[in-house]
Parts: sequence; structure tokens; C-alpha cells
Amino acid sequence: MSGIMVETDRLSKRFGDTLALDDVTVEIATGEFFALLGPSGCGKTTLLRTVAGLVQPDGGSVRVDGQRMDGVAANRRPTNMVFQNYAIFPHLDVARNVGFGLRKLRLSKAEQDRRVADALNMVNLDGYQARDARTLSGGQRQRVALARALVLRPKVLLLDEPMSALDRQLRIQMQGELRNLQRAVGITFVLVTHDQQEALSLSNRVAVMFDGAIAQVGDPQEIYRTPVSRKVAEFIGSMNFLDARLLSEEGQNLRLEVQGFGQVSVPKPATGHANPQRCFSVGIRPETLSLHVSACSGSEHCAQGRINDVKFLGDKIVYDIEFANGSGSISVAHSNSDPPAALAAGSLVVVELRPESVRIFPD
Ligand code: ATP
Repeated sequence: MSGIMVETDRLSKRFGDTLALDDVTVEIATGEFFALLGPSGCGKTTLLRTVAGLVQPDGGSVRVDGQRMDGVAANRRPTNMVFQNYAIFPHLDVARNVGFGLRKLRLSKAEQDRRVADALNMVNLDGYQARDARTLSGGQRQRVALARALVLRPKVLLLDEPMSALDRQLRIQMQGELRNLQRAVGITFVLVTHDQQEALSLSNRVAVMFDGAIAQVGDPQEIYRTPVSRKVAEFIGSMNFLDARLLSEEGQNLRLEVQGFGQVSVPKPATGHANPQRCFSVGIRPETLSLHVSACSGSEHCAQGRINDVKFLGDKIVYDIEFANGSGSISVAHSNSDPPAALAAGSLVVVELRPESVRIFPD
């Protein structure tokens, strides 16, 4: 990966009373698979369409491969978009669908055929040229839409929820294919999705958006392990939020009073310091907690509790546990390959936390 392929500088866009883009500055590296993730209406599609030239911003600018895109029409930008509904022409065969954009390039028939064949090969549809578009399955249509975008050899492929119309199995299969395809062609991909699993598993980096603004940009592990705010943490995966208070600072540690656990020492976070005596919340992922049926090893990080509910989720089991001191409850997730022995609702247990997995969210 080298250089910046897409750069937005303080982009803003308003639709009536809605601020769809609020001062969005982001850099996407050349050859990167970048995901824009956020809840419905947060501005993901508007940002993608602004890069594509389909939406004109009220303020700010877009650069693609170092060139400012002000006033450059969508069809003259080195970007190509794959839409949610594929936008396949039903009356044309696959070759004509894929080669549609090539017509304006005035290539020879042989060159057009070769480019169409190459693009179909990239999406595993070799030999489909003559197929009637109406006879294609959902997954095949999606591949045709990708081939049609790739045939023009864009520098950036913009993908607007391209898998949302597929059923779960096919979606997972297509996600794998999309990732392989991106690696093979090396084009910068920007994917809009509201599916966190899709964003985390496919991309090199993710931007999490809320209310028209980017809340955090990072690689998937960073976003999952060190969310910058409670809002990002709530959106990505599951997290327990417990009330906490800072008691003192001890070298590289903070001594906290944490709901359910009492006094706990945790590593000082690099950013987002807690204020002495102020209440704030700490976040703990359910899978970073362990359950014991008798006393646990490091008693300082343990809390007694009773299992309220056991949820079997296939690959994991989630236990809802009420703290014995009556201060609330907490979820603990265990891999199903290694569940704690015979734990049913009503069992008395000890929950152990790992200090390095406690995330502090200053208010
Ligand atoms: P979704 O996941 O539901 O597609 P999104 O994050 O992509 O959502 P956008 O489509 O970018 O969100 O929309 C951001 C906000 O701007 C929303 O409140 C939306 O209703 C509004 N909006 C987008 N396009 C228009 C438009 N052409 N006219 C009026 N409002 C619009």
C-alpha cells in the first residue's frame, strides 16, 4: 500500500434540516479495502456518492489520486460505483451488460470482447457472455454488476451495500469472493455497510459514522478492542457498561471502584483519562470475562453472582449474571467448544475480569 487514493477535506452536505455530512475529513490509502460503517441515516451513502460525483457537497472537497474533483462529472471520475440493487439491464445479455460502459471508449470489438472476458473471469463467471440477464441468480447478478464496474478499470470501486439483497449463506460466500477479488485486482475499494461483521471481516480499515460525522477510523481490531467512545462501543459487538469511579492513580495503573467488582486496578489508558472522583463508565466485552464455579485465582478482579439466564447461540454460550451484592448484572460469553462445566440458571458463580480488557469511557 502506498499513497493516498481518496481524500475528503471538511465535506459538508445538508438536505433540508438534515445535516448528512458534517465536516468529514478522511484519507483512504491506495489499494486499501475501506469500509464506511454506521447506522441507517448516518450519511454513509451520501459520503460515497459525494466521492462518486453523484452528490454535490455544500462545502469541502474531494481528491482522487491527488486530483481535485470539483466540477468533474461522475462519468469522468476515476471511480465506479456498484449499487445495492445491481442495476442490471434485464433486456441485455451478460456480455452487453458488462461491456456497457466500454462503448464510449471506442475500443475495437476484439478488445471489448477481451476486456469483458477478463472481467467475467475476475468474478468467476467465465463463459457467461451469452446468458440472458433475466435468468441469473442473485449472486450471479451481483457478480455481473461487479464485472461491469471492473471492466472500466477504475482506480476506486465504490460499493453501496452490494450484498444486502442476498440471503445469509450467499452473502457470506460473496464476502469471501469480494475480499479475494480486491486482493487480486489491487484496486482501492470503499464499501458502505451497516453490517459490522461485514465491515470488520472484509476491510483493512473501518470508519464508524454517526450523524454525518466520522467517530473513529481504525483497523478492525482497533475499532473492536479500543473504541474511542461509548457510542462506538455500543455499535460494535456487545459490551457490558458498568459504573465506575476513580479512587487514585498508582504509577501506570488506575485504582477504580467498579460496579459489582469493588476495587480494581486497571492499566492507565493512553487517552481519555478519568477525572478523580467523577463517575464514568467502563466497558468490558463479555468474551473477556471468565466464569468459575468456586473462588477464582486473582480474587481482586472477581465478583460473586448468580446465573439468571443461559443463552445458547451456537458457537458461544452467553450467561446473564446478577451480582450477589445486588448492584446489577453482567453478560459473560464462553466459546461453545470450551463452556464452563454444567452451568444452569440459578448456579452460583464467580466472574473474573482481565484488567487490561477494561475500557474507560470518560463522560
Ligand atoms: P442507509 O444505511 O439507511 O442507506 P446512510 O447512512 O447511507 O443510510 P444516507 O443515505 O447518506 O445515510 O442519508 C443521510 C441522511 O440524509 C438521512 O437522514 C437521509 O434521509 C438524508 N438524505 C439522503 N439523501 C437525501 C436526499 N436526496 N434528499 C433528502 N434527504 C436525503
